[in-house]
Amino acid sequence: MKSDVSKKTSAAKPRAPGPTRAGGECLCGAVAFEIGVPARWTWHDHSSAARRAHGAAYATYVGTWASRFRFLRGEDNLTRYEDPERGGTRSFCSTCGTPVLFQRNKQNVNVPRALFSTGVGREARYHIGIDQLQEWTYQGERLSPLKGFPGVVWNRKRKSAP
Ligand SMILES: [Zn+2]
Repeated sequence: MKSDVSKKTSAAKPRAPGPTRAGGECLCGAVAFEIGVPARWTWHDHSSAARRAHGAAYATYVGTWASRFRFLRGEDNLTRYEDPERGGTRSFCSTCGTPVLFQRNKQNVNVPRALFSTGVGREARYHIGIDQLQEWTYQGERLSPLKGFPGVVWNRKRKSAP
């Protein structure tokens, strides 16, 4: 790269000061990792595979280059599941079961957004499999306190039948 080009680029888009790494861990803490920020991208995966692998309405992933990902501890505590039908390898903590990695190839690493304790430098602005969004997923409906149950809120209105 020519030096005048890089100077021009850095003058036009000054890099915001901030953390250069983002870390996370599984529920029990046996597995911990960090990535370089900003992450490559962040997205919601509504596919049935992601839903089942996470036991959740959908999974939100942070994608990074494998070269910008490293384990801080516990890599040997992971159990791997290679999905013969849909492809890809899912790794989860052998102690607590937390999904930690989803990989489709060696170059990219996808980590559940929920495992990070800080920002990753990318908003989750993309959706995969939005046609598989479940009708039981919370989608921002108005909620009210449930009488007699402090801290519990609920959707008073029934959804109209499809
Ligand atoms: Zn764990």
